Amino acid sequence: MRELPTVADLARAEPELVKGLWSGLGYYRRADLLHRAARYVDQNGWPTGYLDWLKLPGVGPYTAGALASILNGEAVPALDGNAYRVYARWADWREPIDTAASKAFIAEFAASLLPADRPGDFNQAVMDLAQAVCVPRTPRCAECPLAEFCAARANGSAAELPIKRRAIRVREEDWHFAVGYEDGRFGLIKRPEKGIWSGLYAPILLQGAPEGWTADVVEHRLSHRKLRLHVYRVPRDFAAFSHWLRFEEWSSRGMPQAFVHWMHKFAYI
Ligand code: SF4
Repeated sequence: MRELPTVADLARAEPELVKGLWSGLGYYRRADLLHRAARYVDQNGWPTGYLDWLKLPGVGPYTAGALASILNGEAVPALDGNAYRVYARWADWREPIDTAASKAFIAEFAASLLPADRPGDFNQAVMDLAQAVCVPRTPRCAECPLAEFCAARANGSAAELPIKRRAIRVREEDWHFAVGYEDGRFGLIKRPEKGIWSGLYAPILLQGAPEGWTADVVEHRLSHRKLRLHVYRVPRDFAAFSHWLRFEEWSSRGMPQAFVHWMHKFAYI
């Protein structure tokens, strides 16, 4: 906010600067999406309704619903996982919630309940209810303002809903990286603009563990994966590192948080 206080400032900033400012916050794709969204708003003005909000990079149906109902007074539901839980219980919906058919049903059910005059307040009330009362596993039905209307409470099924089709499995993976190190400088490369850590500076990803080298290991959690990052410190001529900088200089550029941890943890600064 200090560096880029207005949408126009953000829209006109260099991508490098935006990535650098975002450094350490994780979810780097969001920095790029926010930057592109700022450019869109700078060129087209602020959206005025649900379909308009969906045109912004990074804005999906949930965010568009929340923004359109709260800012534009449009009667559209804001459906995230929490809201799905409340509505699935409210309707006593016994089908797996993560299917297209269930989502369509819940969207229709929610739309039928939304008041035309205060849709934003209604959506925010559902969010609050989900967070404070209609919580996963142990819903507090006795203190719920919806209790007398709620079908799951009437039928005794609240704690079992919503039904999930599949639990998310966390995969464990080992990744191997080479970082150049010479005279207090680290050699890294700029990652491609697509894929994990896009456009950030990082060590070179190797095909496997190089024989005879010892690595520092740091763990890094992604939403569905637990990564063990094996980082090998290698000499300058090991590979074509594109950028050589000291840690202090790297820290003002965009670097994945996992590698910032690695630099701190292994006291290379
Ligand atoms: S009555 Fe219970 S299950 Fe129904 S909305 Fe309230 S907390 Fe959720």
